[in-house]
Amino acid sequence: MKKPIALITLAMAAMGAHAQDFPAGKPITIVVPFTAGGPTDRVARDLAEALRKPLGGISIVIDNTVGAGSSIGTAKVARATPDGYTLLLNHIGMSTMPALYRKLPFNVENDFEYLGVINDVPMTLVGKPALPAENFKELTGWIAQNKGKINLGNAGVGSASHLCGLLLQSALKTEMTPVPYKGAAPAIADLMGNQIDLLCDQTTNTTQQIEAKKVKAYAVTTPKRLTTPGLAGLPTLDESGMKNFQVTIWHGLYAPKGTPAAVLQKINAALKIALKDPEFIKREEALGAVVAGDARTDATGHKKFVVAEIAKWSPIIKEAGVYAD
Ligand code: ASP
Repeated sequence: MKKPIALITLAMAAMGAHAQDFPAGKPITIVVPFTAGGPTDRVARDLAEALRKPLGGISIVIDNTVGAGSSIGTAKVARATPDGYTLLLNHIGMSTMPALYRKLPFNVENDFEYLGVINDVPMTLVGKPALPAENFKELTGWIAQNKGKINLGNAGVGSASHLCGLLLQSALKTEMTPVPYKGAAPAIADLMGNQIDLLCDQTTNTTQQIEAKKVKAYAVTTPKRLTTPGLAGLPTLDESGMKNFQVTIWHGLYAPKGTPAAVLQKINAALKIALKDPEFIKREEALGAVVAGDARTDATGHKKFVVAEIAKWSPIIKEAGVYAD
């Protein structure tokens, strides 16, 4: 049955008024598609803190909807009411999931509004404390001796740790047994407990564990060595013989498609203020991350970047021949 014109007009007026008042009356929920205490969660909680003030002091709640390499939480936001009160914070998975999953319940390019890239984060190759190798050279020797017996953790198909692990195995021409978790927090906990052997994970999750010597650190995935205290002595994989090995991940903020433009503008303006917050920058830098300040902090630049990342990673993933259903 068709809705009477008057009702449609009323609904539109209500939506318009709503957009103008945003945010008011209820908290904003940021869906984090990985476990609490992990790297994506950490960025989200720090960002929420920095966003609160520019959004008029509103409460911001983190909702960890986890599983399937972030696709479950991402799908939840694609289906959410597009009113600005449900947002998604996800990482490079937004551009690896389209190639890694045969079927996704959303379309990365069409089902979201892009609010801006937050940061770029290097990754590190870390090992269990009981691993006898003290450096990357010794690690390659240990890997050669233990072929077929090595467990490599990841945060699920499509996660950054999964992608980094795929590249690592292909560069080393070795197959390891993947051990998927619902986030990097449980993965690093098992690594520290010697339950898995290796993990490739963001510096936002590994820096403190490396500094506390709770894991063994072998290399960084950036083209240049890092200057962050605690990571500064680590070689790059590139200089360690794995030429051109480079994975830097990033996080972005999204809203469901159809969120009113006025609401998107308010969130983007608040995001830009948050990205200049000295406390937020300090926290991120201490963990090896670089806060974004370029064209990617705008909707157009963010979307363009994600589309380019999809084009960059899809052939690499296809080449690796890994899929999830
Ligand atoms: N970022 C992690 C990964 O993709 C997951 C997490 O944030 O927990 O490996």
